[in-house]
Amino acid sequence: MNKPLDAHLQAVDLGLRLNNRFATLGEAFFTPLQPTPLPKPYWVGQSAAVATHLGLNADAFSSDAALQAFTGNLALAGSQPLASVYSGHQFGQWAGQLGDGRAILLGETVDGLEIQLKGSGLTPYSRMGDGRAVLRSSIREFLCSEAMHGLGIPTSRALCVTGSDAPVRREEMETAAVVTRVAPSFIRFGHFEHFSANEQYDELKVLADFVIDNFYPDCRSSSLYSGNPYANLLDAVSQRTAATVAQWQAVGFCHGVMNTDNMSILGLTIDYGPFQFLDAFNPAHICNHSDTQGRYAYHRQPNIAYWNVFCLGQALLPLIEDQALALAALEPYKTVFPQQLELRMRHKLGLSDSREGDKALIEGILKLLAQDKVDCTIFWRRLSQYVAGKSVDTVRDLFLDRPGFDAWLLSFSKRLEQIIPGLAADLMLKTNPKYVLRNHLGEQAIRQAKLKDFSGVHTLLKVLESPFDEHPEHNDYAGFPPDWAAGIEISCSS
Ligand code: AMP
Ligand code: MG
Repeated sequence: MNKPLDAHLQAVDLGLRLNNRFATLGEAFFTPLQPTPLPKPYWVGQSAAVATHLGLNADAFSSDAALQAFTGNLALAGSQPLASVYSGHQFGQWAGQLGDGRAILLGETVDGLEIQLKGSGLTPYSRMGDGRAVLRSSIREFLCSEAMHGLGIPTSRALCVTGSDAPVRREEMETAAVVTRVAPSFIRFGHFEHFSANEQYDELKVLADFVIDNFYPDCRSSSLYSGNPYANLLDAVSQRTAATVAQWQAVGFCHGVMNTDNMSILGLTIDYGPFQFLDAFNPAHICNHSDTQGRYAYHRQPNIAYWNVFCLGQALLPLIEDQALALAALEPYKTVFPQQLELRMRHKLGLSDSREGDKALIEGILKLLAQDKVDCTIFWRRLSQYVAGKSVDTVRDLFLDRPGFDAWLLSFSKRLEQIIPGLAADLMLKTNPKYVLRNHLGEQAIRQAKLKDFSGVHTLLKVLESPFDEHPEHNDYAGFPPDWAAGIEISCSS
């Protein structure tokens, strides 16, 4: 593995104070190493919001030193770069050891935000890979991280993307890029599975205690599950996972690769690969062309998340020490997920409280949307506009089954009579986004970026950061997908 030239002599001080809690876990958990430099990097995208979140100065992106540091060419002052080891289940099969094959954790700010470079070169966990990430997938990860945050969905964040003309071989030759990702922790279910499968129970306990102490302190004091902190952890993680997946379902987000190594212990959306926001509402939609069985189809995500928390439960069993307790700790998922989904769907309908019949209202509209393959983002936004006082025609026009829609609208209108006028519309307009990162929007920005025009990335970022705002000058981002969008194939290749 190459070391950046004079990495330590030339450490870049961007004013970030770094503290490295993960590095204190010990070398059973990671390999210390330096990123591998990339030639002649350039900026592709930068998030001022994430810079502020990290406590970086406004001019954080103005220096060449920052460009070099976020490409992995110069060390960041105070960083202790490392690649962590994890294992996991991929597409339902035990895959054994995986690990950060192209991600390097630089360190953690004193405010508890980890900074990770993705695509920064080979690590001991690269297996058959080259340690790199290509421009197109890096732009997708960057934009989607910030789009999800804009939607209020728990996610890792993305500070910036840098590119280099260094060639990277995928199906065809592409070029390299590095995304700087930010999250309180990048620990995955797979980290637990790793130590459990290898019967490294001391390390498993160190990891679980680390996660509890830093992120789930209530699990230590809870009297639930006979006061077993690890059963409490399982319960807490599965509830957070349920809540996040409920938000995915409500907004029509398909993750694409819900392997256990892509599941955050904090319930964050992580590892953006072949994700997609639904265009037409097709519950069986498979966004990942590598997913031939449709394991990760949109409508399967809630059950897959449960399957994944079950894997986490198995991994934690040596610490929980009681199978019945572990099973009990998995039970809340089954009630929290539907509750959270119903809550999110009620809000999409502008209903701030719950009444009998709401479930039927929700099921009724989802059935119609699926039957007529209606564009879901456009439908929900137009319905919000209708409730805010606009004509119903633009909503009705979306359906082939007009009598079916009219019948549903009648029950919905009756239900709305129970809500203070104005409140429903307000709730709907801040729940149903005008803008989501549709595949074709990302694709257009990527095509421009390949020609070194990054304006599409910048504009999309600006719009997606506040997707509930009108941004009338960008109405074209809120339209129906063009016909060619259906032909975009997104796979695991990244
Ligand atoms: P993913 O499907 O992207 O979550 O990746 C699964 C595993 O493969 C993880 O351990 C990644 O670090 C690793 N991986 C994916 N792509 C590469 C690559 N180009 N080079 C090295 N490792 C990779
Ligand atoms: Mg991954």
